[in-house]
Amino acid sequence: MKSLEQVEQTHNEHIDQYIQHVFETVKKRNPHESEFHQAVKEVLDSLIPALVQNPHYINQAILERIVEPERVITFRVPWVDDQGHVQVNRGFRVQYNSAIGPYKGGIRFHPTVNASIIKFLGFEQIFKNALTGQPIGGGKGGADFDPKGKSDGEIMRFCQSFMSELSKHIGPDIDVPAGDIGVGAREVGYLFGQYKKIRGGFEAGVLTGKGIGYGGSLARKEATGYGTVYFVEEMLKDNDLCFKDSTVVVSGSGNVSIYAMEKAMELGANVVACSDSSGYIYDKKGINLNTVKRLKEVEHKRIHEYVKEHPDAIYTDDPSGIWSVPCDIALPCATQNEIDHHSAQILVSNGVKAIGEGANMPSTHEAINLFLKENILFAPGKAANAGGVSVSSLEMAQNSARLSWSFEEVNNRLHRIMKSIYRNSKDAAETYGAPGNLVVGANIAGFVRVADAMIEQGVI
Ligand code: NDP
Repeated sequence: MKSLEQVEQTHNEHIDQYIQHVFETVKKRNPHESEFHQAVKEVLDSLIPALVQNPHYINQAILERIVEPERVITFRVPWVDDQGHVQVNRGFRVQYNSAIGPYKGGIRFHPTVNASIIKFLGFEQIFKNALTGQPIGGGKGGADFDPKGKSDGEIMRFCQSFMSELSKHIGPDIDVPAGDIGVGAREVGYLFGQYKKIRGGFEAGVLTGKGIGYGGSLARKEATGYGTVYFVEEMLKDNDLCFKDSTVVVSGSGNVSIYAMEKAMELGANVVACSDSSGYIYDKKGINLNTVKRLKEVEHKRIHEYVKEHPDAIYTDDPSGIWSVPCDIALPCATQNEIDHHSAQILVSNGVKAIGEGANMPSTHEAINLFLKENILFAPGKAANAGGVSVSSLEMAQNSARLSWSFEEVNNRLHRIMKSIYRNSKDAAETYGAPGNLVVGANIAGFVRVADAMIEQGVI
């Protein structure tokens, strides 16, 4: 007769095989979409303990359903450049899961955008949005359009063409896009203007990240970066560490990066390095954030310009080299897969104590496994960067109620939400037998909320 332990082991092996089967189907149905496969694998691998405790998720085919987007829209985006030439880009919107609310997720304009990138981001968004506790489903969109070097007029015409098609598929109770890489307040403004013109009405809640003068929320710009630091602060506190007097490296110099640097500095950290896609700067005495903000937010220049004004700082022509700068805390806030196994090894050998992902999926599987093996505190992006979408949801709430909260009010709410995301992820990790593993905790906590809602709504 088999012992209880053997029975349990066989049961777990069956679940493992079932998960592998779901994953193989995803790969077969979505060939050559490596980023999407990577995001799905990370979530599925975390779910074994949740499926062991909740076998009805298997009977109800929740995994098979959750990996398949409810809808994927691909469309042509034609526009006219300043020379009068017609250009054509490809637009995407994936409406992934609406079990707990209207689809919600950003729009990315970047030449690397394709179905794999948008699906990986949309899939992650389902669990991230569930973790916030807000009533928002998962979605994501974008285009393979490169805003770099484009005039203001070209950006506006592109946004108008993009929205001419997208407007058919979104609405305040249907799907509410926001910004992401390459889409900031300016682009959201052009997108909103075109939506308003097409619809013939002022539906403020259709987009978030709007300008403050027409329905935007205070503290939205700061939300993702601040939220990442709030989350990491909780994780550090639990381990008798803090930002004060620590050395911090933050990749990128865009929206998330700038406000992660700002909050880390406010908490007493010395932020010594940041980057863009061409290279990184190292300023031993501490980055001058006013210079970075002016260069990046106002003048739209490259980060190497920084050293002209701060000659003690060093510029290196290799963005991934930033991970060789010794630090206590590393905050990857630029893009996917920016920390590979090699970079992770360098961070570990230089004594890094904590990693907080401000970007989406910035660490590869191998890098994450190394951090976990070496007991480096690790805050996964899905949980740590959920501050942006949380405040987007608060923007929707303010739009519905036709009022606007003060910066302090929004920031306090953001802080409370990030603390609660941390607590829920930590508790889920403990409940499901992986104490301290916030990857498992965040994936399960987000998954359970969506899975339960899907079951209550029947097979749809
Ligand atoms: P931005 O476009 O504002 O900034 C991106 C920054 O990353 C730029 O400085 C860019 O440099 C830099 N970058 C891009 N590729 C690399 C690279 N390989 N190495 C170093 N730097 C690089 O985007 P966001 O700050 O909004 O987004 C950053 C990340 O955060 C993305 O993963 C996004 O999905 C995620 N995120 C964003 C949220 C938001 O509210 N904005 C919410 C949650 C997640 P360059 O200018 O040269 O391209």
